[in-house]
Amino acid sequence: MKLNGLGVSPGIGVGRALVYRQHAFDVRFRVQPAGVDGELRRLEQACERARRQLNDIKDRVARAAGAEHASLFEAQVLMLDDPMLTGRAASLIRDEGVNAEWAVRRAGEELSRLFDEAEDHYLRERKLDVADVTGRLRLNLRPQSGGPVEIFRTVEGPLILVADELAPSLAAQVDWRQVVGFVTDVGSWTYHTAILARSLHVPAVVGLHDASARLAAGTMLAVDGTTGEVLLDPSAEELAQLDARRTRRTAYERSLDEYRQLPAVTQDGVRIVLEANLELPEEAETARQYGAEGVGLYRSEFLLESRGDGTLAAADEEVQYSAYRRIVEAMAPGTVTVRTFDVQERELYPNGLIGDGSHGVLGLRGIRVSLAHRDLFRVQLRALLRAARHGSLRIMFPFVTGVDEIRAARGILAEAAAELRARGEAPPAVPVGIMIEVPSAALTVDLLASESDFFSVGTNDLIQCCLAVDRADDRVSRLYEPRHPAVLRILRYVSRAAKRARRPLALCGEMAADPGTLALLIGLGVTEFSMAPTAVPLAKQLVRAIRLDEARRAASRALRAATVEEVSQALEELRVSRT
Ligand code: PEP
Ligand code: MG
Repeated sequence: MKLNGLGVSPGIGVGRALVYRQHAFDVRFRVQPAGVDGELRRLEQACERARRQLNDIKDRVARAAGAEHASLFEAQVLMLDDPMLTGRAASLIRDEGVNAEWAVRRAGEELSRLFDEAEDHYLRERKLDVADVTGRLRLNLRPQSGGPVEIFRTVEGPLILVADELAPSLAAQVDWRQVVGFVTDVGSWTYHTAILARSLHVPAVVGLHDASARLAAGTMLAVDGTTGEVLLDPSAEELAQLDARRTRRTAYERSLDEYRQLPAVTQDGVRIVLEANLELPEEAETARQYGAEGVGLYRSEFLLESRGDGTLAAADEEVQYSAYRRIVEAMAPGTVTVRTFDVQERELYPNGLIGDGSHGVLGLRGIRVSLAHRDLFRVQLRALLRAARHGSLRIMFPFVTGVDEIRAARGILAEAAAELRARGEAPPAVPVGIMIEVPSAALTVDLLASESDFFSVGTNDLIQCCLAVDRADDRVSRLYEPRHPAVLRILRYVSRAAKRARRPLALCGEMAADPGTLALLIGLGVTEFSMAPTAVPLAKQLVRAIRLDEARRAASRALRAATVEEVSQALEELRVSRT
């Protein structure tokens, strides 16, 4: 059997499914025989913790509202000893080698089904208690941080991670030595974890709708991140075919190796700066190897840790300082541009300032969150200013929509600098710039220039905001079109406005990693790019094959085109003639 999704990170990975459904607090994997006792112990300890909590609640309710109201919790305590619940979960662990969370879920579902069939109304209502108790048990199975770090200690690879959604914080904690591929229900090419997968060279397929609910943990999966195919229990013949594909792909990648350390100069001698986008500090060394001159975008939010309940914890100043310093030193003498946290408020604060309305890509995110939580922001800025002493570092604010936000952010930066001076650690002067990711910023580049030392266009967000297409929503992903005439016009506008304002302009969206659109961008006047480290050799190959005057002509043809297809035709002519 085969599932088809969107291949977002090339390569082939074969391993057993580990299912992680963040929204349903659901983790499923097979336990090796040697791990069974450990799982049983975890179940026992979770029962103990749940029992203490429930007894505590029961006593408090009894004191406050009378013993009759506490009987509900009494019943829940009894359920913890029910052979049909915890007893059944234990036998599922022993007999079928499933992990404790999965066993508790299954035992709970079986028990609920029995209650469903009951004639008695009272018994049918008990279903809710079963759900309550199993929910409590599952939370108690990972009482501390929970999350994937702990899971990877107990499961043996190679694994294919099957998830409903793979938030950056979660992805950053995955043990990628064990995970040889991942598939998710949602996502698109510019989905953050797709970007990370490409950086890490991990094959990935996204947009598989309900795969995380349907795929059984432990199933053998083969993921082809180029074609978007996911094979279930592949045959020997299918595996051999995949292997042949893998060999061809590796040979192609090798053929690009010669470009890694060559200068990125067009045929007519125009120098193009190619830098790397990083999500993890340890990628800096890889970025150098692939021939990146610096880091044009470090997505610092990947430093945030998942608490296991869907929220994130900010790293402290020392941890952040070490991470920033490590990248700056690894890239020296190149420049490193660190973007301050770009997260949504609900990821950091489940009960955020604006409550429920803050969800979604257009909600409280990026610089808006940092301005709303100044303490957190100051910690990050202090760490950045300190790291700037060790090399060339620039600070960049995400998701800026107007001048006021930059002024406010700079105000907090001044406070952070003053705090460091008070500690006797005078900070160096650091260039401060912004991302152009929102149409309002794109259209006011001249005004923003008075407050910004540099700009970097984030086309991933700019395209989604300009075309009104949520980049994580696979149902509308075919409308996400970097070659849309509106996108071309907005980019030409930004490029010209930045030139007039005499501010350096880079582009760090995924559009730069596609050789077809890279030529277009060069033709539109952009000369500095940042992309996944692994995309740098191919970009160099393209740059070295084109002439600026030809790229300009192709860009003007593309700007006259009315449809995406016509834009592509205009660009094809350029590529075919030179590469
Ligand atoms: C962008 O929006 O283009 C960008 C580079 O930022 P991110 O992909 O992290 O949103
Ligand atoms: Mg962005």
